[in-house]
Amino acid sequence: MSFNNLTLIEPILKALSNEGYTKPTPIQEQAIPVILQHRDLLGCAQTGTGKTAAFAIPILQLMHETRQAAPPTDRRNIKALILTPTRELAIQIEESFKAYGKYVDLKHLVIYGGVSQYNQVSTLRRGVDILVATPGRLLDLMNQRHISLQDIKYFVLDEADRMLDMGFVQDVKRIIAKLPVKKQTLFFSATMPPEIKQLANILLNDPVKVEVTPPSSTVDLIQQSLYYVDKMSKRSLLIHVLSDTTIETALVFTRTKHGADKIAKDLNRSGLRAEAIHGNKSQNARQAALHNFKTRKTRILVATDIAARGIDIDDLTHVLNYDLPNIPESYVHRIGRTGRAGASGVAISFCDYEEKMYLKDIERLIGKMIPVIKDHPYDVPLMHNTPQPAKAAGAPANSGRRPGAGKRYGRSFAQRA
Ligand code: AMP
Repeated sequence: MSFNNLTLIEPILKALSNEGYTKPTPIQEQAIPVILQHRDLLGCAQTGTGKTAAFAIPILQLMHETRQAAPPTDRRNIKALILTPTRELAIQIEESFKAYGKYVDLKHLVIYGGVSQYNQVSTLRRGVDILVATPGRLLDLMNQRHISLQDIKYFVLDEADRMLDMGFVQDVKRIIAKLPVKKQTLFFSATMPPEIKQLANILLNDPVKVEVTPPSSTVDLIQQSLYYVDKMSKRSLLIHVLSDTTIETALVFTRTKHGADKIAKDLNRSGLRAEAIHGNKSQNARQAALHNFKTRKTRILVATDIAARGIDIDDLTHVLNYDLPNIPESYVHRIGRTGRAGASGVAISFCDYEEKMYLKDIERLIGKMIPVIKDHPYDVPLMHNTPQPAKAAGAPANSGRRPGAGKRYGRSFAQRA
């Protein structure tokens, strides 16, 4: 299948060719024709599957065609709204609209909090067709009457399950209440917990459901490995692993913001240039760190799950889980930062005694055991065959898993030999 089979218009095909895209990803193949037929869509897909282009391309095409048929006489008004949970995702989505919409005359803007609203408001005043927003800033500017949603024809709710995780569902509902009844809605979520299913039922009108590969197969291309280590030795192991100069770029995940800062500091002290991004840093500091990483000025970026959510870095070679996440889907999201759009990548995870229970959940979700590296100076041989603890200190009673997480594979694993 090529993009030519998707009845796309010339200006879009040209932009895709500029981007070096030769064929659509599975979600694009399924979603683009449905959206072009003006149908609502329920997409079960996560970042890394090409889902941004799956909604951006047909929205651009439909809006361009409408504009060609009846050129507007007055100021542009917002006709497409894309709501996404994080600033990083919002910025990347707008960059996608910019790239795929290079040859069509549509204006887009991204708005998010943590920065002055001045520039955002002056661009809004000049007229915008497509608005990409995070919920907080959007509500804020709506309340100040800088934004009206009354002309919205296309509404995309991106990463709905993350909106729930991050406590944005009430904000999202407030925004939805201001949207016109008649519109085309595209709803994306990697998982479908009950609250999200309910939201989808309210929002969508006879949707077409599009589901791409469950998380386990998305990660099949990624070479995964596991290092058992004592909590106290993790820092030394990290320095040991990252001293390997064949690692071109590494995104290191930590559970806490404080941990991210501390690790970046320690790495720098050991002569390994690293920067940290997390929610406590200013938007400018985060963008600067991300830019340095993308342009390979820094080799190592240390991030928390939320800050790194959806970060789109071409050619990221290594993902390192300094801490194992307590939500198994987060493991899949994390390692999906590498191995993007079919490329291979490497994911290395550290596991201390208390994290063995998380490891079990992760392995159940991905449907396989992660190969263990024994040959390293901080190995803990005892951990190779000790059962995981009944409950890790400070862990939530259900180990943070959502209901049903990991159950879909229904397999149990023999204890690691
Ligand atoms: P997303 O899932 O939207 O975050 O996209 C993941 C990555 O895949 C991004 O770096 C896109 O630029 C890239 N991508 C999306 N669609 C294609 C395609 N058809 N061919 C090659 N790369 C793509």
